[in-house]
Amino acid sequence: MKDKAFFRAQILDHLRLYSDLGVRWMRVPEPPRKPASRRPELRSSPTPPVAKADTPAAAPIIGMNTSMFDVLPSDEESLDTIQSDLKDCRRCKLSPSRRNLVFGSGNPHAELMFVGEAPGADEDEQGLPFVGRAGQLLTKIIESIGMRREEVFICNILKCRPPGNRNPEPDEIASCEQFLFRQIAAVKPKVICALGAFGAQTLLRTTQSIGRLRGQLIDYRGAKLMATFHPAYLLRNPIEKRKVWEDMQIVRDYILSIRASNKS
Ligand code: SF4
Repeated sequence: MKDKAFFRAQILDHLRLYSDLGVRWMRVPEPPRKPASRRPELRSSPTPPVAKADTPAAAPIIGMNTSMFDVLPSDEESLDTIQSDLKDCRRCKLSPSRRNLVFGSGNPHAELMFVGEAPGADEDEQGLPFVGRAGQLLTKIIESIGMRREEVFICNILKCRPPGNRNPEPDEIASCEQFLFRQIAAVKPKVICALGAFGAQTLLRTTQSIGRLRGQLIDYRGAKLMATFHPAYLLRNPIEKRKVWEDMQIVRDYILSIRASNKS
């Protein structure tokens, strides 16, 4: 059993990291309030709270909008500020082996933002996200909904390539994810498209599979999130392209509906 000192040290480590990242305040979920009682002298046996079907507590991904990691910078900041904070980042063990840090690219005010997992060999070489074969497929996916690649913003959870394209590790995600959250806060997309399990699970704080998460728009920090398969997975499993196409139709229809409501 881990003692209080262990957890205190863990929390202090997190706070030091956030301070290092320029975070000046944190939102901490408030404990649930007890309903006011008109007759405090009468005590009834406690009844467990029952979540209504339409409340956030009953949603399939619980707590995704409020957690101890729900940290936002106090001021509005630009992508340039975030990028200059990253500089020559050495915050995790991926820094020694990377060639280039891959910040992300595209429209800084995009309606649609894609979040992948981590740079691959081509991205590491060029310092740009999704430039290999998977990137070419992503460009086709974007064009399939009538948008251009320059219109959207594309980035990854990790900004540096894991050696041999292995999966991101928890400590690497913990070190790097705040930059992604700050990018989302800066771009303010209407829809975030999480590509692959790591993108979706990191953003939603869930362990649900991508197969269960996809196919629906999920409320996320004032935007909608669509989880779908990663283009690299589609290259290996082209039969799944149809599902991604269906997901992207939902994204396209939502964006069109927002544009229409903004006009009216
Ligand atoms: S992966 Fe992220 S935290 Fe790790 S060195 Fe690269 S930019 Fe820094």
